[in-house]
Amino acid sequence: MIAKPDTARLEFRQVTKRFANPRQGGVVVAVEDVTFSIADGEVVSLIGPSGCGKSTLLNMGSGLDPATEGQVFVDGELVIRPNRHVAFMLQKDLLLPWRTIRENVELGLEIQGTAAAQRRETALALLAKCRLSDFVEHYPHQLSGGMRQRAALARTLAVDPVVLLMDEPFSALDAQTKMVLQQDLGRTLADTRKTALFITHDLVEAIALSDRILVMSHRPGRIIEEIPVEIPGRDNPMTRRQDPKVGVYVKRLMDLLHVEQAAA
Ligand code: ADP
Ligand code: MG
Repeated sequence: MIAKPDTARLEFRQVTKRFANPRQGGVVVAVEDVTFSIADGEVVSLIGPSGCGKSTLLNMGSGLDPATEGQVFVDGELVIRPNRHVAFMLQKDLLLPWRTIRENVELGLEIQGTAAAQRRETALALLAKCRLSDFVEHYPHQLSGGMRQRAALARTLAVDPVVLLMDEPFSALDAQTKMVLQQDLGRTLADTRKTALFITHDLVEAIALSDRILVMSHRPGRIIEEIPVEIPGRDNPMTRRQDPKVGVYVKRLMDLLHVEQAAA
């Protein structure tokens, strides 16, 4: 899809989400009056205490779950149902065990009716970018957790979405594998100039990977702060995370999160 100039790739406009909950007085306000937008090619992280509505926000972005109030737009178009302009990546890789890695990456294109030769070419190019060229005909169970998440990233990119939504994609990985994956993701997002919204609990991960960090309050989740990350090298998270300024950002984020947790 050709990006429209001057239009936010993803925009939340005064979004509130309430869930019915018979135990807590009938209703839970999960997200309240959230407004933000993400420009073309921007990578934004969302952090906040557990249960503050991060996943709920992402689900609304994907069109899986409607907002109670407000609107979500992708490329200026109202999101009302899941659509191919938004791709999702989760902690679980959701690779189909009976398909090879290449066939998994091709799945979205197959659903879109792309010709076999074109599907294959796209999948192989992305798998090369994700350093999986030697494993294209392997099955998911033959790969490590980190490799599987790299395959999931290739699959997410294969449909060339306008926006990538990622909900703690690396939280199940060990610390070193996670750093390698951050590097792969940072490079790949920069190479492909993709727009992404990334949820994480890991403050350094948010700093290393993003242009901007949105900090949410305890439930009902509101955006309490927006912090531009002014450290060079977003395409190289491994170097960026060693920048002396990282500590300053970590402290600021910790202060914001602790204040919110203490108030809860
Ligand atoms: P986070 O991802 O920040 O940890 P969630 O978005 O998963 O938080 O949840 C936010 C709040 O909304 C929580 O209190 C959760 O219990 C509630 N919630 C999420 N999904 C549902 C649902 N389908 N039905 C009822 N309550 C829900
Ligand atoms: Mg969540």
